[in-house]
Amino acid sequence: GSSSASFSEPPKDKLLGGLLSAGFDEASCLSRYQSALYRKQSNHTPSPYLVSRLRRYEALHRRCGPNTELYQKAIEQLKSNRSKEPTECNYVVWLPSDGLGNRIITIVSAFLYAVLNDKVLLVHLPGDLRDLFCEPFPGTSWVLPSDFPVKNLESFFVNAPWRFRDMLGKKLDAAEGSLPSYLYLHLTHDQRFSDHRFFCEEAQPLLQRTPWLLLRSNQYFVPALFRASQYEKELSLLFPKKKSVVFHHLGRYLLHPANPVWGYITRYYDAYLGNAKEMVGLQIRIFDAAPISSDQMIAQILNCSTQERLLPEINLTEPAHPLTRRTQPKAVLLTTLYSGYFEKLRNMYYQYATSTGETIAVYQPSHEEQQHTEQQNHNKKALMEMYLLSCSDALITSGYSTFGYVAQALGGLQPWILLRPDKGTSACLRATSMEPCFHSPQGYQCMGERSSEEEDVGRVRECEDVPGGLKLV
Ligand code: GDP
Repeated sequence: GSSSASFSEPPKDKLLGGLLSAGFDEASCLSRYQSALYRKQSNHTPSPYLVSRLRRYEALHRRCGPNTELYQKAIEQLKSNRSKEPTECNYVVWLPSDGLGNRIITIVSAFLYAVLNDKVLLVHLPGDLRDLFCEPFPGTSWVLPSDFPVKNLESFFVNAPWRFRDMLGKKLDAAEGSLPSYLYLHLTHDQRFSDHRFFCEEAQPLLQRTPWLLLRSNQYFVPALFRASQYEKELSLLFPKKKSVVFHHLGRYLLHPANPVWGYITRYYDAYLGNAKEMVGLQIRIFDAAPISSDQMIAQILNCSTQERLLPEINLTEPAHPLTRRTQPKAVLLTTLYSGYFEKLRNMYYQYATSTGETIAVYQPSHEEQQHTEQQNHNKKALMEMYLLSCSDALITSGYSTFGYVAQALGGLQPWILLRPDKGTSACLRATSMEPCFHSPQGYQCMGERSSEEEDVGRVRECEDVPGGLKLV
């Protein structure tokens, strides 16, 4: 019978369980609605509370975003250099730091901070980040307008004016209007300079009275928000069952590749990957701090992929025999800055027989040789590759790399991590969750707050790849 035909199509969950607002013009951002055609459906449903909170945030952003009266008012106050009274709209201005992966994990962290504090997130996009992402909030913009009165944002770093840390020690005398109209927060891995007391209860009056927070970070500081007692209740409502879906949901909510990048992604996928029966993502990242030869790296990858049964073994003494029938290949999507790995892996798999008789096809979209974060097209390729990796069925990543973190969390994948050569074994470890690692949480503990490790059990644990790092599980 034909009765089942109309039911066999899976329901197209275009809005990802309500995560996405319906208030967009589809053509302006195709990836927002087409991602379901490329990425597997998520096993994780956002809580109704998270969904309602996102709609509330969107309404706030529309009310306070660029080109609104309230935005103008807040800008006037900023120009006056003094914060005299609490304002209706309060802002977090995100400033970029390091490569695209670092930038993305901090955008997600800053967004969660903004949501928890009823602040509005604006992103300062230098030219190299333009046209990478769609606008995430309907009917408004998250881009910091170019006429923002605080100039030279690029130069804001450790020694910026109105450092949060310098203000924190001072007596707040709000009545006399002695507070500055903005504060600069510096949250990078370097503990000497980091404003980590930002999360502590004692800092909240100052932060709440400051309408403009300028924030630069290269860290996924979400686990620190989970440790701060003032957010505990709200976070348990937003993420009631499982904590380790924070980036997965917020990243899929915020980060939609703009149409030109979506073109790269879909054309590459359709041309090379769509035909495979399965796809294994393989991300190779080598850091100067821990060099490794390409032969050692290949050996580590093969140890990992065969031990974990992600790829079949190859018999190096036996040339591949012709198969009796045609088979659908299994694809390996390799991403790395370097050339060399691709040829070695590809040649190995067509010259020798696999133990299972499977055919392995290896693809690498680009080899940029060096990081060039200042170049827009370089960043577009990086985003394309993170996205393609997130479409994998299984993922092997390099430890320490935020590039890999983005791919795993967007894809809802618990990767197998190739440990950095200075940190571990010659194979790999399975990640305990898909969440990114907060590399430098040292010092983020507040006075008089829950500090014992036992209390963190069940919410955060040490990262597999970074000793001393913290991740949500
Ligand atoms: P991390 O340094 O590994 O934590 O990741 P980041 O993304 O912050 O910085 C690395 C940057 O180097 C990326 O953003 C890219 O610009 C570049 N890069 C590193 N690995 C790759 C890769 O596999 N493919 C591409 N296209 N670029 C890469």
